[in-house]
Amino acid sequence: MDRVYNFSPGPSMLPLPVLEKVQASALAYESTGMNVMEMSHRSPMYQAIIDDTSSRLRDLMHIPENYAVLFLHGGATMQFASVPMNLGVKGQADYIDSGNFAHGAAGEAAKYLKVNVVASSRDDNYTYIPDWEGKLNADADYLHITTNNTIYGTHYVKLPEGNAPLVADMSSNILGEVYDVNKFGVIYAGAQKNIGPAGLCVMIVRKDLLGNASPICPKVLNWATQADNGSMLNTPNTFAIYVAGLCMAWLQEQGGVEGIEKVNREKAAMLYDFLDNSNLFKATAQKEFRSIMNVTFITGDKDKDAAFVKFAASKGLVNLKGHRSVGGMRASIYNAMPIEGVKALVNTLKEFELNG
Ligand SMILES: *Cc1c(COP(=O)(O)O)cnc(C)c1O
Repeated sequence: MDRVYNFSPGPSMLPLPVLEKVQASALAYESTGMNVMEMSHRSPMYQAIIDDTSSRLRDLMHIPENYAVLFLHGGATMQFASVPMNLGVKGQADYIDSGNFAHGAAGEAAKYLKVNVVASSRDDNYTYIPDWEGKLNADADYLHITTNNTIYGTHYVKLPEGNAPLVADMSSNILGEVYDVNKFGVIYAGAQKNIGPAGLCVMIVRKDLLGNASPICPKVLNWATQADNGSMLNTPNTFAIYVAGLCMAWLQEQGGVEGIEKVNREKAAMLYDFLDNSNLFKATAQKEFRSIMNVTFITGDKDKDAAFVKFAASKGLVNLKGHRSVGGMRASIYNAMPIEGVKALVNTLKEFELNG
């Protein structure tokens, strides 16, 4: 069977060797005689799997001992609510509004504490990361950012530094570029972009921030309780955690995050370089803030955009339609997208431009 190059923003492509391992373990995982989906989460055989996934993540991101790694439910969106419930001690938090997900996170937090939107690029349809310099509140419980804006194709080139712990929704660029975990209080990420299957949320939290959850916080969202229970307060997303571990093992073979970041930069540069020299296509995000994970571009003509998306699909390059709030096209080129896929995309863009 022929596989396509899938440019979907999420759920997105997984590395082929990972899918082959999933296939090979369909009837029996190693010598257990059962699929991972059939295992008790309390069994030693499953404990080995979750421990393995956790230690691979620690290795890939160089996570220090004073941070806990949690595997939670409900994707990133669930944590939009859990962040204020776990960290809201003084009762106010700063948010940088750099995209729809950032906006949604702030909206959810506002149900539980006072939200200060300290900077926003909403009025310019989020084509850049807004400037926060001098605007952060000394009294905030935390500062929330979205490191990569999936829909608009922007990312932070510099991290904000303030008094309050930095909390980052890293859903669309975790493991795709190197970050120093020490700069963050909390990192969380829905898994379906760069980690594995949807529904799972990976969280990295500095241990001194645990234990302050508000009394109304549901216990499955209480990070301290989850940390005390090894992410098994209830049944975790066992299969997704297993597949995430396979993706992480694959990533270790690619030279880790340091190794893949080089490839990711090369892929993005190839695409932006074409767009900057094209007479038909043009990138939409401001140059300085261009994401290396999600590349957004347009022709300026809706019919031509649609024709290109169709033309690309006929060549096995699928899911290139942009988000409805931006229009045009978006190529999501996460870790699992091989460089050959981006080359094929550039060739297809060239062909369309010549003949279109
Ligand atoms: C995809 C995405 C989300 C939403 O993730 P869910 O798993 O659907 O909750 C949140 N934030 C960012 C930055 C994303 O890219």
